[in-house]
Amino acid sequence: MCGIFGISRHPEAARMAYFGLYALQHRGQESTGIATFDGQHIRLHAGMGLVPDVYDEPTLGQELQGQVAIGHVRYSTTGVSVRKNAQPLVVRVRGIEIALAHNGNLTNAAQLRGELEDQGAIFQTSSDSEIFVHLIAHSLAEHKTLEDAVVAACDRVRGAYSLIILSEGRIIALRDSHGFHPLAMGKVEGAYVFASETCAFDLLEAEYIREVAPGEMVIVDGDTMRSRSLNDSGRVPVRQCIFELVYFARPDSIVFGEDVYQCRKRMGFEMAKEGPTNAELVMPFPDSGVYAAIGFAQAAGVPYEQAYIRNHYVGRTFIQPSQSMRNFGVRVKLNPVRSMIANRRICIVDDSIVRGTTVRTRVVKLRELGAREVHFRVSCPPLKHPCFYGINFSSRGELVAANHPLEELPGLLNLDSLHYLTIEGLLRSVSQPDQYCLACFNGEYPVACEGQCACCGSAE
Ligand code: 5GP
Ligand code: MG
Repeated sequence: MCGIFGISRHPEAARMAYFGLYALQHRGQESTGIATFDGQHIRLHAGMGLVPDVYDEPTLGQELQGQVAIGHVRYSTTGVSVRKNAQPLVVRVRGIEIALAHNGNLTNAAQLRGELEDQGAIFQTSSDSEIFVHLIAHSLAEHKTLEDAVVAACDRVRGAYSLIILSEGRIIALRDSHGFHPLAMGKVEGAYVFASETCAFDLLEAEYIREVAPGEMVIVDGDTMRSRSLNDSGRVPVRQCIFELVYFARPDSIVFGEDVYQCRKRMGFEMAKEGPTNAELVMPFPDSGVYAAIGFAQAAGVPYEQAYIRNHYVGRTFIQPSQSMRNFGVRVKLNPVRSMIANRRICIVDDSIVRGTTVRTRVVKLRELGAREVHFRVSCPPLKHPCFYGINFSSRGELVAANHPLEELPGLLNLDSLHYLTIEGLLRSVSQPDQYCLACFNGEYPVACEGQCACCGSAE
């Protein structure tokens, strides 16, 4: 998963990109980059770490000059976590400079990379996103226009891609025809702005116009905006990633036309219907479980409490304690309010169970503190199948629900009861139930993973 951003044309383009990426930080904490066009050349600043740590005043004020900017925050799903895999990727082909920011995962990356290398391409990174750059370069070498070159590249790749491209002062923003990942378009002070999620627009006081449609390519040249379709647009079903609504997107965003906060609350309502409890209090694992827990508590008429407190300052690089401090990672992140727990019948709500680590370790803690009963409600169906399109659970072996029969899970996770929202319940929570990818729940993949793809980890 990743976050992408673009703006044209604004006197403080780099600074706007910086704040846009700041709002998208939850989509990737590993590395970030901003590329600007200064009127002649593309300038790039990228680094490992969080947005506020990678840029400083001289970078935004002087180094990243220009009125057009694109940016990226990265959460590696393919390719290792190193500086050179940070995006935007910037290349120069036949005198044309291109910067590209990608959110998604290609399923035929290994095959295309092999073909391109056979034709003499030299890859700079281990990220599948670089394939776009080489495909575009290839078409430019055949004297195609940039726009046609981008369309031709999209004809070759399979999988998930929301893209923002900067070249010669123009911005091209597009979504693959399945529309796996989001991309929104807005306007601020006359400038067009693009972002993975609308929460970035709120921070910039930009007006949200609409989403870039699945299979749509938007071209912004100065003050003018045009739209054109990718070749497979409308020929494949729309399959947006429902996990964006379940977990990934910020609750203050509008994604796929859904108000994410309200959508998560509806998942909670549905769970209360499907899996009622006799609990005395409902509590989330914060922050991701909060919104479904509020919905659940309201629908069930059970008091909502925040009896687990989250430490917000846990970065990815905290110093690991000694071996004897087991499950430190979860403990440092979530700590219970003791007085809420003893002798109570508790119902926990979380958005998802992936490996089961959070549930297992946090439920043990509640038992130690004297909880009488611990029930668990999950606001999505069991995660049984890996994602090939960019969500970070890429191997079946990691998924606890894929490796144990459902009826064994309450025992395994030390729970008095466990209910996962059904697929039907989940789809009742959204307004366009036929437009979602549900592959992680039902194994029905809209795009096949072509063997040795990077998302299986075998191409590394
Ligand atoms: P588990 O502890 O079962 O492995 O993971 C479940 C927890 O991880 C849930 O609280 C959920 O909010 C969170 N989660 C779900 N998907 C992802 C993901 O793709 N990345 C990260 N970092 N956390 C996730
Ligand atoms: Mg969580």
